[in-house]
Amino acid sequence: MKPQNLLQPRPAGLYCPPGDFYIDPVRPVERALITHGHADHARAGHGHVLATRETLDIMALRYGTDFARSRQAINYGETLTLDGVGISFHPAGHVLGSAQIAVEKNGLRIVASGDYKRHPDQTCAAFEPVRCDVFITEATFGLPVFVHPDPLQEIRRLTASLTQFPDRAHILGAYSLGKAQRVISLLRTSGYDTPILIHGALEKLCRYYEGQGIDLGELEPATVEGGLADRAAGRVIVAPPSVFGERWTRRFADPLNVFASGWMRIRQRAKQRGVELPLILSDHADWNELIATIRETEAGEVWVTHGREEAIVRWCELNGIKARPLNLVGYEDEVE
Ligand SMILES: [Zn+2]
Repeated sequence: MKPQNLLQPRPAGLYCPPGDFYIDPVRPVERALITHGHADHARAGHGHVLATRETLDIMALRYGTDFARSRQAINYGETLTLDGVGISFHPAGHVLGSAQIAVEKNGLRIVASGDYKRHPDQTCAAFEPVRCDVFITEATFGLPVFVHPDPLQEIRRLTASLTQFPDRAHILGAYSLGKAQRVISLLRTSGYDTPILIHGALEKLCRYYEGQGIDLGELEPATVEGGLADRAAGRVIVAPPSVFGERWTRRFADPLNVFASGWMRIRQRAKQRGVELPLILSDHADWNELIATIRETEAGEVWVTHGREEAIVRWCELNGIKARPLNLVGYEDEVE
């Protein structure tokens, strides 16, 4: 069996003809397998959705319980057969519930990894390399210049700033699913035990993470009641990055904008957003992680999707691995 007969790019997403399903389709389809809950991968309106229980829960939190006509949960490591195609989900280390999807038929195995990272993250299961014939990798940070620093070291730059500027509210922009919970968890690991204020948009997902046994310490809603401006001095307020430049931040006296993103490696991006304290913290693999992962899968062929495809394709070719860009559209890096 040729790999492209088992999985192939279509306008709606990666399609499996023998199993008649899509992986992370960007348009409504009859049968969808979803790698994780980020909005560009998990969309509402499919007929049937197969995903981890956490991803299904997250979709229900974001879109309402009627996000699909029917749904089915699958555990990591469990194997299902759809029209003769073997399917299994494996941890991707990206956000809670995130999975790589292995698709297998006639001895050919393709792994679609979705978004993934290898840096330790206490808020989700660690990535597990799966041996395969074809590995489909993201390339959000697919350039050698992208090497993410130690996450705890980055968080300590924030706690140092809190000590240095005790009168300023530290507004920490972090994507609401995954990044927000990870920065909170990292702050706790670093020994910061003051209650953390959270923007209303993060409330549901933070509570969900806590319900799944992830310790985020004491969280308080960042609501105006009770003299928020005074309470916020020298405190951390976690909010979606969209609040930067909005009226919401003006309720705080002398706010200091902090942004946790892999893109903070690029100084210009921090400047554009008025970020005073950029923290380089990503839920995507950096260059070294991408390469190490490709090697560990022992794949003879690599398909590269969403991001900077060229450098990874070139690296594979130089290392005797067949590679090609998939040119799938519709996957942004969600203000990573
Ligand atoms: Zn993602």
